[in-house]
Amino acid sequence: MWKTVGHDKAVHALSQALTDNRMSHAFLITGSSRVGKMSLAMDMARALNCVGDVPPCGVCGQCRRVTDDLHPDVRVIGLEMDSDTGRLRTVISIEQVRDVQRDVSLKPYEGRHRVVIFDGVEKLREEAANSLLKTLEEPPDQVVIILLASNAGDVLPTILSRCRRIDLRPIGAEIIADHLYRLYTTDRQLAEEVARLSGGRMGWAIQATQEPEMLQAISDRLDTVEQTVSSNLEGRFEYAEQLARRFTQGRAEVLEELDLWLGWWRDVMVISEGKPELVWNVSRSAALKSTAEALRTSQAAATVKAVQRAIDLLQRNVNPRLVIEELMLELPNVVITQA
Ligand SMILES: [Zn+2]
Repeated sequence: MWKTVGHDKAVHALSQALTDNRMSHAFLITGSSRVGKMSLAMDMARALNCVGDVPPCGVCGQCRRVTDDLHPDVRVIGLEMDSDTGRLRTVISIEQVRDVQRDVSLKPYEGRHRVVIFDGVEKLREEAANSLLKTLEEPPDQVVIILLASNAGDVLPTILSRCRRIDLRPIGAEIIADHLYRLYTTDRQLAEEVARLSGGRMGWAIQATQEPEMLQAISDRLDTVEQTVSSNLEGRFEYAEQLARRFTQGRAEVLEELDLWLGWWRDVMVISEGKPELVWNVSRSAALKSTAEALRTSQAAATVKAVQRAIDLLQRNVNPRLVIEELMLELPNVVITQA
């Protein structure tokens, strides 16, 4: 059985290709972080080596060894730890690619296919990418290379053109909620709230269900969002300064916080438009409703745009303090009532 959930179209196309014996030698799976790219790639690795009746059966020795990371013919290549600095490297090195090339020139050791999964193909430096290109151009028999990337736009066109593309879209909140409720929690309300917060990313949703501290951190940050919206300009500028300082230490963490701002204001907008059933931050309904009632829909929509613009500018390395202060000035004045 395929373990991938919520990507039926991709799964169907792949099982058909397997049955008809016309699997490609190179795939590029794209989709946002934690949407299910690696799950699908591991399903493919199982399916390509399974000895059960309906691959991937999940229970034969081949399938089980892939699942347990013990299969000698299945490799995942990603960012490695730098032994000098103890930090994660930011690129996949040419040595890693050469290592793969040596590997794929050999016959599979115990399975039917060698499967190499590149996690984050946008992290290949040009030299490494060109080297990989050679393997993609003349793929050895019995080798399947699966490249994963968040954005097809970040992948070299020469690589792109040699792969069969599989684009994974965000999964519907209901499918995610059902899956969480079936396998990961007995709390239906929690499953539904996490599903809405996940933005269609199953991997994120599963982690959030299993790690209460992740949800607590989000809740703390949403408290800050609501306090900042309610506060005067002085309070907002203090927040801007603090956020800008944190940005220089770790961009990702601040961009995540701004994503919460974006989601919160999006919720205000959908309530304002009379569609409360579309709210993501369900536990914040009272504050969202009071904000929506104090503003016109056009003001809520303008704020959503302002937050999005701030995120875009930060990603393009514009001075963080200026960007966030500008955003603070654009926030409408509202006093949030929680009841
Ligand atoms: Zn199997």
